[in-house]
Amino acid sequence: MRVAVLGAGVCGLVAAHRLAEAGHEVDVYERWPGLGGQAATIDIGGGHLLERYYHHLFTTDRHIAALYEELGMPDELEWRRSSVAFFAHGRLWPFVTPRDLLSFGPLPPLARVRMGAAVVALQRLGRSAEPYEDVTARAWIERWMGRAAWREVWGPLLRGKFGARAEDVAMVWLWSKFRLRRGADAKEERLGYPRSSWEPLFGALRRSIEGRGGRVLIDRPAARLARDGDGFLLTAGAPGSFRAGHDPRAFEPAGEPERYDRVLATVPSDVFERLAEPGLLPDAFLERLRSIEYFAALCLLLELDRPFSPYYWTNVADPELPFVGLIEHTNFVGPEHYGGRRFLYVANYLEHGSELLQLGADELLDRYDAGLRKVNPDFDRSWVRASWLHREPAGQPIVTAGYRRRMPPLRTPVEGLVLANTTQVYPEDRGTNYAVRLGDEAARATMTP
Ligand SMILES: Cc1cc2nc3c(=O)[nH]c(=O)nc-3n(C[C@H](O)[C@H](O)[C@H](O)COP(=O)(O)OP(=O)(O)OC[C@H]3O[C@@H](n4cnc5c(N)ncnc54)[C@H](O)[C@@H]3O)c2cc1C
Repeated sequence: MRVAVLGAGVCGLVAAHRLAEAGHEVDVYERWPGLGGQAATIDIGGGHLLERYYHHLFTTDRHIAALYEELGMPDELEWRRSSVAFFAHGRLWPFVTPRDLLSFGPLPPLARVRMGAAVVALQRLGRSAEPYEDVTARAWIERWMGRAAWREVWGPLLRGKFGARAEDVAMVWLWSKFRLRRGADAKEERLGYPRSSWEPLFGALRRSIEGRGGRVLIDRPAARLARDGDGFLLTAGAPGSFRAGHDPRAFEPAGEPERYDRVLATVPSDVFERLAEPGLLPDAFLERLRSIEYFAALCLLLELDRPFSPYYWTNVADPELPFVGLIEHTNFVGPEHYGGRRFLYVANYLEHGSELLQLGADELLDRYDAGLRKVNPDFDRSWVRASWLHREPAGQPIVTAGYRRRMPPLRTPVEGLVLANTTQVYPEDRGTNYAVRLGDEAARATMTP
């Protein structure tokens, strides 16, 4: 079969690799002039690559670990010690071990014990997702851990990820986080990072696809998808279309449509809707796609001339601060890997329309400056050597109660047309490991409609 795969993120590349392996003729269309989608890297100079958005793996991420093995890169993944803190009530609180939890000042002592007991119970006893699917995290936490635990810990954490929608997020999202982050040794969490960024994985997948006769077309987006009696007609967008934004209707068509027997789209749901010709997707299916909202990720990467904090990951639980997380990459993968240079990501998840999404890197740093000084009073703008700003409109699907019933199926109502994107990663939080799993499932769904 001739198959078009739309999107060269992890899911699209893995699916194309599977389809090519099974003997199909595969073309991958990618809007961006590079591979990897949300896990894509940038060249930070000096021969180093770094992800646009902070990335690490958990020890439970077995699908991606197996893929590294399969591709003959078993030594690529390295496991390093992580350190996590909470910024609340004007100071940083270490937040990794049960002992840290027991000395977490913002919570009254009894509330700490109650919260600890509930977390252990969830990790050990909560085997099935079902009891957590239709209840909000807020209701569950307040019932089992107490109001203070919601107010001081989980409310701020979920606001960090889901902003104004935090109160609506389903408990199942938090439940899966608890279960997946339970390491063998609770005293110390180890996280994974590939020896030289995520990029070699994309290269290996590309070589596998091209080595089997497939094509991986970057800076060549899908602009329009139609169907006739003989199959699908895909019109590509002209090179440089990414400069027009994310909406495929704004892309200049390039040449005649190409014909395919099957199409697998791994693009965000709103992009999928816009590139499908009117009438191709039934209204009920479109309603389902639209019922899942995305928050945008806004990520400012700073190169600093010195360390910012002692931690890799800082959750910002102070609502006064205009960002939600500080991820100091070089407190995880040491500066010696980057010629002595240091990197800090300032993370945000925002609803579409937020004014912060309109700002450039310097303007955003102006907004963040006072907040950064609140976390580290010594911080000075002169520490910043360089900055990079990235925005991902489909950064985080919002997982609300009853999500499973609204989640779109892989096989769309159009025969031979498959959709696989981050809205279908459930109950786990989306991540590259689950993009690998989804790529496998999507390839199977494409081969057997
Ligand atoms: C801020 C942030 C931090 C993250 N941290 C982690 C982490 O620590 N660990 C982890 O494992 N995961 C992390 N993730 C999540 C992870 O990166 C994603 O879940 C995963 O990469 C999704 O892969 P995907 O292929 O499903 O989607 P995407 O990566 O979104 O791929 C979709 C692709 O489609 C392309 N596309 C869009 N429109 C078109 C078009 N018209 N035609 C052709 N192509 C098009 C896009 O350019 C993109 O390449 C993070 C994500 C973000 C935003």
